[in-house]
Amino acid sequence: MVNVTYQVTLIPGDGIGPEVAAAARRAVDATGVKIDWQPVELSAAIMEKAGTELPENVLESIRRNKVALKGPVTTPIAGGFKSVNVSLRKKLDLFANVRPVRRLPGVKSRYSDVPIDMVIFRENTEDLYSGLEHEVVKDVAQSLKIITRFASIRIAKYAFDYAKLNGRRKVTAVHKANIMKLSDGLFLRCCREVAALHPEIQYQELIVDNASMQLVMRPESFDVLLLPNLYGDIVSDLAAGLVGGLGIVPGANMGEEIAVFEAVHGSAPDIAGRGLANPTALMECSVMMLRHLREVGAADRLQSAIEKTYAAGKSLTGDVGGSSSTNDFTDTVIANL
Ligand code: NAD
Repeated sequence: MVNVTYQVTLIPGDGIGPEVAAAARRAVDATGVKIDWQPVELSAAIMEKAGTELPENVLESIRRNKVALKGPVTTPIAGGFKSVNVSLRKKLDLFANVRPVRRLPGVKSRYSDVPIDMVIFRENTEDLYSGLEHEVVKDVAQSLKIITRFASIRIAKYAFDYAKLNGRRKVTAVHKANIMKLSDGLFLRCCREVAALHPEIQYQELIVDNASMQLVMRPESFDVLLLPNLYGDIVSDLAAGLVGGLGIVPGANMGEEIAVFEAVHGSAPDIAGRGLANPTALMECSVMMLRHLREVGAADRLQSAIEKTYAAGKSLTGDVGGSSSTNDFTDTVIANL
């Protein structure tokens, strides 16, 4: 372990965010890695006050520290302010959303006996998340789907480079280019171009509806998935469901210089404030963050402590079949470090 203190922006978020962020922070601190956590507030309440713009102090803190651990933030549905999660990714140009989906020992799911180990690469800056919508005339609404060569090549390169570095064998590009021939067609052509530079990696294309069925039927056949923004969002939750749910799947929003680690799950208003949330996903985000900081030993220890906790099967939260609280689970992980 290198004896340095890392400056990290901590965004607890809202809903279950503050509960899981506090748990992840405790677990990271218990590894002995010195982190100067710099908390900034970002929540639905703040956004309602601030209007549509992301608070400048949040962006400043992340730009300064280059690393952030982020809890979820609620987005109003069918109205209200724009998603701060999407705005943050776009403003900081966090173009790659990386989501490893793996089974944890002992977690019961409908696929408990299937070896699932895939990494999802979701383009994070464009597609239908461009936020370009308008009402053409009353009762006719239009959303613009933006796909560019620049962003498609960039995410494809990121996914293939990751595959190469991490000994992954296959990349599956997911699309709907049979219908959206121009936009998804461009995405696919970019994937093919990058795939041609990596003959050592098997390359496959699947239409998104077929990909969804194959994921349910044969999840073990997937390795790296490469998707535009919207399909990446939907397929991430589907994949989380294969391994035991949103409580355990982490993610990272990666830019050229900045990394914001955040789980796949949202603010879970149905369980917020009751000490029931599973902090595993944000702890696994912290493992990814520690690796990013090159604190590999601490990352490995935290990962082992999480796995040991699951293998023992006690102290688990309700979403994965246990009856323990967020804090009890966290105490057990820390005791297992
Ligand atoms: P959600 O992910 O918040 O919850 C879906 C289901 O999974 C709920 O039943 C919830 O209780 C459960 N769940 C999620 N995380 C869990 C955890 N850690 N432990 C135990 N159970 C967990 O999805 P939703 O309900 O569709 O969205 C709620 C809000 O979150 C919306 O405003 C949405 O826009 C927002 N959201 C934010 C982010 C983000 O901040 N990156 C991501 C997704 C959704």
